[in-house]
Amino acid sequence: MSLLRARAAVSPLRRVFADANAVLPAVDDLIAVERPEDPVHCVRPAAIAAAASAFVASFPGDVLYAVKCNPEPTVLRAIYEGGVRHFDCASAGEVALVRTMFSDAEIHFMHPVKARGAIRDAWTRHGVQDFVFDSADELAKILDVTGATAADGLGLVVRLALPKGTAAYDLSGKFGAAPDEAVALLRAARPHAARLGLSFHVGSQCLDPLAWRAAIELAGAVIRAAGVAVEVLDVGGGFPVAYPDIDPPPLGAFMAEIEASFERLALPGTRLWAEPGRALVAGGASVVVQVQLRRGNALYVNDGVYGSLSDAGAPGFNFPVRMIRPEGAATSGSDTAFEFFGPTCDSVDRMRGPFLLPDGIAEGDWIEIGQLGAYGACLRTAFNGFDRARMVEVRDGAMLETAGYALAA
Ligand SMILES: *Cc1c(COP(=O)(O)O)cnc(C)c1O
Repeated sequence: MSLLRARAAVSPLRRVFADANAVLPAVDDLIAVERPEDPVHCVRPAAIAAAASAFVASFPGDVLYAVKCNPEPTVLRAIYEGGVRHFDCASAGEVALVRTMFSDAEIHFMHPVKARGAIRDAWTRHGVQDFVFDSADELAKILDVTGATAADGLGLVVRLALPKGTAAYDLSGKFGAAPDEAVALLRAARPHAARLGLSFHVGSQCLDPLAWRAAIELAGAVIRAAGVAVEVLDVGGGFPVAYPDIDPPPLGAFMAEIEASFERLALPGTRLWAEPGRALVAGGASVVVQVQLRRGNALYVNDGVYGSLSDAGAPGFNFPVRMIRPEGAATSGSDTAFEFFGPTCDSVDRMRGPFLLPDGIAEGDWIEIGQLGAYGACLRTAFNGFDRARMVEVRDGAMLETAGYALAA
């Protein structure tokens, strides 16, 4: 019952999940049989588990999965199967969902601004011990609501603001304490914390390993200035994945930079955490859409920026695509550049791509759009009544490989 409620709270999709022993279908077979007129999310549990275990194997510390990126129960199970036991949650709904699924998971409440009730439930009912804050008022709120002390195992993590960087999504504008403020917060929290930490986020889809070096150096300066022991340095998320026009450095380049920068700080009592989201799940889901009208090189499809393709709109992400035509009729010509229009009446519901597809693509054909395991299904809205989408598990591998992540067979 509580699982059902938590599911409804984090995503409005209708799901058709195979039982544990079923052989998962391949995407093409599924489309041939079902000929779906609504978008279908195809989740690849094996690809997600492989990416998670590659990250766990190469990161020199604890890996916390950032649940907001894709909170689907089947995705969380694959992450867990890949060896992840820590979860970065940002809301009461995420905390309850993870706790319902994994009684042994360590849940960390990493949102710097929390409702009192959410803190209370997390601490008293769900065994959450670590809480992030970036202000003295939020620290006071956490201490007041939990009534906890260091003796109770309370973990307190200060979120440090970073200067604006080069990541695709800048996260510097909303959360985080400036360095001098972070110094004061570390000192203020120290007497109350069994575990004191400092965290940052370089921004999502950050292609430059040196962004972590700069952030770790800043964090080191803050820790030295505070003059208190810090048990955790949390290097956040932001690890990039490949898109058709983006080929990021391999995962190992980021790990090497983080490890070397951290060693230079010479903090023997400090443990590293990371909070990857996109990197663990992007390759693990695609969305199959259907072409409802072709007008020149514009394809009107049944999903868009108010559905699972938010990042293809204004942020202008490109995604790997391929046509699916079950009857296999030949299509003429080579790859042609198309743009997509989504189903809603809003003119921002437009995705410029360019998406390279066969010249002969026509009304009724399907298109599989890959790398949508991250920030895809979880951003769906019901705007304009286009709330019918399904989610199924498939056995296909990721549509696009990101260097450093093991691919499922
Ligand atoms: C969104 C978020 C993440 C995950 O970011 P990715 O870019 O998906 O890796 C991690 N930590 C925090 C605090 C976040 O807000």
